[in-house]
Order: sequence, then C-alpha cells, then structure tokens
Amino acid sequence: MPRLKVKTKIKRPRLKVKTKIKRSKPKGTKMFCPSCEEHRKCEAVSVAKISCKTDDYEQRKYIDKHDDIKIFQRGRICSRCQHEFITYEVDSDLIWELVELRESLSKIKQHAEKYKSESNKASKSLSKLSNSLNILQALKIYKSS
Ligand SMILES: [Zn+2]
Repeated sequence: MPRLKVKTKIKRPRLKVKTKIKRSKPKGTKMFCPSCEEHRKCEAVSVAKISCKTDDYEQRKYIDKHDDIKIFQRGRICSRCQHEFITYEVDSDLIWELVELRESLSKIKQHAEKYKSESNKASKSLSKLSNSLNILQALKIYKSS
C-alpha cells in the first residue's frame, strides 16, 4: 500500500502587537527647580493649582505696603520630580536692589556680631574694675577723690 504524504504543517498568522508607548516631551521652560537643584523643564500652570487657593488666579499682583513692587506670578511643576512651586517675574532693578540690600545687611550683621563680642569683653573689664574699686573702698585708708 502506498503511503500517503499529508502535510500537517499549518502556518499560523503572526500577530504583530505594537507595544511601543510614545512618551510626550516634557512641557514648559527649562528653569531652575529648587527641589532638583538643577535646570529642568517646568510646566507653567495656574497659581491656584499650586496654592490650592481658588481666589489666587490673578497673575498680576502687588505687594501690600509696597505698591512699587509689581509681580507677574506663575505656578510651575518640574517635569522630573513633579515639585510644585511659584515663580515671580519682576523688573530686574528690583533684583539688583535685593542684591545690594543683602550685601548691606550682611555687613551690618558682621559689625553687630563684632560689637556684641567686644561689648561683652568691655563689660567684663568694667565689672573687674568695679570689683577692684569695691576692694579699695573697703580699706580703712581709702579716701574718695
Ligand atoms: Zn525638580
């Protein structure tokens, strides 16, 4: 009896599944993230989203008792660490004024610390002098000048 050759090989259709997930590029402006302490892309969002104050939607603001300080605020979210923070945009003259004030305050602090140290030493010397005078006054031979 002749043998029958039967092809049993069935070709299965190959399923192609796309698993590649498209990641969107981080949104925003590259700026300094205070949490990462590096420049990262930070998305601009409403300040109310960051502060959780529903009435904090105005971007243009003034500081109480300092009408000359006009700010433009933005909420920011770091694309890397998701840290949320608020930035203020101000006239650059205000930043230079801040730098000068910081430097002046630093010198005042140094002088005040030196004054405090020197006045403590002077106070101890005056106290010793006063004690010496008390000893002299206790002597029978002491005559006030
Ligand atoms: Zn960050």
